[in-house]
Amino acid sequence: MRKPIIAGNWKMYKTHAESVAFVKELAPRLAAYTGVESVVCPTFVALAGVCEALKGSGIGVGAQNLHWEAQGAFTSQIAPPMLQGLAEYVIIGHSECRAYLGETDEMINKKVKAALAYGLKPIIAVGESLTQNEAGQTAAVIGGQVRAALDGVDAANMTNIVLAYEPIWAIGTGKNASSAIAQDVIGGTIRKTLTELYGNSVAQGVRIQYGGSVKPDNMQDYMSQPDIDGALVGGASLKVDDFAKLIEAAAKAKGV
Ligand code: PEP
Repeated sequence: MRKPIIAGNWKMYKTHAESVAFVKELAPRLAAYTGVESVVCPTFVALAGVCEALKGSGIGVGAQNLHWEAQGAFTSQIAPPMLQGLAEYVIIGHSECRAYLGETDEMINKKVKAALAYGLKPIIAVGESLTQNEAGQTAAVIGGQVRAALDGVDAANMTNIVLAYEPIWAIGTGKNASSAIAQDVIGGTIRKTLTELYGNSVAQGVRIQYGGSVKPDNMQDYMSQPDIDGALVGGASLKVDDFAKLIEAAAKAKGV
């Protein structure tokens, strides 16, 4: 069985002090839910503090991005070795990075390979725009993004990769994709693409999250779908009570 994984993407919210205080309050709330993997992804400057505060808690830490080069004249960027020891996961290909930082499929693929080379586990986000969705292009866009991100990644690495289906029109908008639509894209397009690339047994082992206006009151619905293995959560991960309720709902829905 795939272990459910819920990751909180804090985006550009919370100072270092706020991040540390948050996880200190969160950790005891999640202690009983060992059947669900919980991950928080704070801003880069809070990674060290959060990592220290979470030692021994079982809660994982992720970064929100990385550069593909190991070092160099890339002002403002963070290299994979800089994240070693601070982050287990790294979000790659978030639609906000694709839109505001000009990240292309090719850059995302380089980032995925760089993360893996340094022992970091990518959470690869893919998603279609509203225009693409309304034009009936969802499967083609998502299948294309998955193939591009994984170009040159071998099957042995797939256990270290999490995919996240995040329809752009559902992120931070309150307009979530229904659980049936999310299941259809995750099972019917993403896992099917993984099966074509790596075979059924590898594809069945890869965890795939849904992301886009996930809240405590709709979490159980998503998690009741057979191919949805967790969630990548923005807004609802910023409050201790909401985040804890997401984990509780995931544990209940999956019976873990
Ligand atoms: C996200 O940022 O990945 C996200 C899904 O945001 P929200 O939950 O706020 O829609």
